[in-house]
Amino acid sequence: MTHWLAVVLQTPAHSAVAGPLTYQSELPLAAGTLVRVPFGTREVLGVAWDTLAAADLDRAESGIRAVSAVLDGVAPLPVAWRQLVQFAAGYYQRSLGEVALAALPPQLRDLSAAQLARRLKRTPAATHAQPVKNPDLIALSEEQARAIGQIDAHSGPFLLFGATGSGKTEVYLRRVQALLDADDAAQALVMVPEINLTPQLEARFRARFGEAAVVSLHSGMTNPQRLKSWLAAHSGAARVVLGTRMAVFASMPRLRLIVVDEEHDPSYKQQEGARYSARDLAVYRGRLEGAKVLLGSATPSLESWHRSRPAAEGGRYLRLEMLSRIGAGGVLPQVRLVDMSLQPKKTVFSPQLLAAMGERVARGEQSMVLLNRRGYAPVLACGSCDWKSECPHCSAYRVFHKIDRTLRCHHCGFTQPVPRACPGCGNVDIAPIGRGTERLEEHLAELLADLRRPDDTPVRIARIDADSTRLKGALEAQLAQVHAREVDVLVGTQMIAKGHDFRAITLVAALNPDGALFSADFRAPERLFSLLMQAAGRAGRDAAQSAASEMWIQTLHPQHPLFGALRRHDYPAFAAAQLREREQAGLPPFSHAALVRAEARTQEVAQGFLNAASAAASTIEPALPGYAQVTLFPAVPLTIQRIANVERAQMLVQSPSRAALQRFLAAWQAVLHATRQQPAGRGLIRWAVDVDPLAI
Ligand code: ADP
Ligand code: ZN
Ligand code: ZN
Repeated sequence: MTHWLAVVLQTPAHSAVAGPLTYQSELPLAAGTLVRVPFGTREVLGVAWDTLAAADLDRAESGIRAVSAVLDGVAPLPVAWRQLVQFAAGYYQRSLGEVALAALPPQLRDLSAAQLARRLKRTPAATHAQPVKNPDLIALSEEQARAIGQIDAHSGPFLLFGATGSGKTEVYLRRVQALLDADDAAQALVMVPEINLTPQLEARFRARFGEAAVVSLHSGMTNPQRLKSWLAAHSGAARVVLGTRMAVFASMPRLRLIVVDEEHDPSYKQQEGARYSARDLAVYRGRLEGAKVLLGSATPSLESWHRSRPAAEGGRYLRLEMLSRIGAGGVLPQVRLVDMSLQPKKTVFSPQLLAAMGERVARGEQSMVLLNRRGYAPVLACGSCDWKSECPHCSAYRVFHKIDRTLRCHHCGFTQPVPRACPGCGNVDIAPIGRGTERLEEHLAELLADLRRPDDTPVRIARIDADSTRLKGALEAQLAQVHAREVDVLVGTQMIAKGHDFRAITLVAALNPDGALFSADFRAPERLFSLLMQAAGRAGRDAAQSAASEMWIQTLHPQHPLFGALRRHDYPAFAAAQLREREQAGLPPFSHAALVRAEARTQEVAQGFLNAASAAASTIEPALPGYAQVTLFPAVPLTIQRIANVERAQMLVQSPSRAALQRFLAAWQAVLHATRQQPAGRGLIRWAVDVDPLAI
């Protein structure tokens, strides 16, 4: 007997075939079954999404092809997983096939049925790994115990607002433990923002629950490793899945708890393809599967903070507070502001800051200096004509990297040796302007050259940024040096500001954070505040030293309220002020936004396409659903308008109603597709929608 199936597969992003395709099979197949099917001249992976009755079939669908193979060693994907994918595709305006297939490990797509069967034979049978028992756990702090009590008593979602070092991770560990002890098939998903933070957390989870129970999922893994972890999660064998944003799509048949650590972190938002927010999907998924959701941060996103206002005012999350640091001397570092307008021009390190760092070195303590710009200098310029190191392919300067004497574009990658003389006028006097971490490290080495450590050896300076950690294993090795106290002063980008449990750092300095105070990006102050709070959280993590720990900020605007709130470690006051501003300006979370981005060889084409699609939306009769409640703004160039010779433009779509925005976007898709086929779409390279964008 013949059975009919709607199969979801990866179709080209903007092709006409966006929905599931129909295939036939001799055997009945459950929805969620992984299959391989013929598509054009290839054979590809698909997910059987639905079974179809003969009556569902369109008569015109002749020549329906047969499924080529069934991957029957892998259990069908659960219905909740399919619902999550369906929701994500709809909400973020992408095709079902794109989201579904991107949510599966790459090797599943690439292996044939026979290869996969062989791979499965080598993996042990799936039994639920039992976590190791931990009889002697540390005593919880009062705040930790109270938070855990609330998590037990309520259904959530929860926002755990806990200072850095207040013991949030211990709360996660205890909740996972209680869950696994109570139900010997239950699973927990624990998400962290970046791969570079997973090793430490991974070690803590593995130490607590044993190797067998914990698997990781992140992009730093090889494809075979990823497949192995994915299968362990999908079969139920793994009890704890630890991963970055991609892990939100892990198939977990008995998911009961989702933790999103550092929930404010921008890296939870995917920035290409389906631009989903893993934090928001985690909350959706929790509701879908009856899993408790626990978001944690010392500086929550303003969205989550707003959602955790008292229920009487409309809040939907339960806010749990842990305000003090663990340990007797568990105070937060003192914040010191240095008014750089009182320093001679071009001062990089104020004498006060240098002196404070010197004292640390002499005592054998560590300091950390943050500068959010890598390379030696952001621009190289000629002293006698107006030549600057512009990238020929982008509207941006190429960065000078002294270590290999290159000019590198951080947007398109275009790299050339530094010219011997000015390409404009032949002058040999071309000089770096501004500074990045590489130059800072060099400068600091000169300034601190005469200092001695307690054992009378010279001071040791190290740098950690995307350049110093390019090679595999380099970051781990460099972090190990810091932990082993082989480094006195650590220079780096925000990479070092987050999450690391450094024990001997007692001074953190931010050299020039002012740019974010007056940025056009409405989220810049929120990000700066969180970065500085996180960075401050790296200092004084060892209770014995925490009393003397300091966070230094060099600024031209010491009176700025952001720094005032920071000085008092008062996130709630900062958040309240920001939310007032956002409300007045009608910005998220008080409105909902989507961006449509377009790329073409010229701005004219990119903007023309967007404006034409916008005009079409206004003239269509009857009006598109939701249209009355959305505002479409004119198309504008992006801040960096050209990258790799491609011009980029965007259009903002805003609405006070999320539902209206969603209805409009769904209906407008067809208009955008149609506009592309019209003269206004000629020359367009691509377009895409970004729902709930990070920057507007
Ligand atoms: P957070 O995640 O909030 O930054 P952690 O959970 O990493 O904080 O805790 C900070 C430090 O305090 C860690 O070294 C941790 O082992 C320790 N710690 C956490 N809870 C307790 C406790 N109840 N008693 C003693 N030490 C604790
Ligand atoms: Zn010149
Ligand atoms: Zn470039």
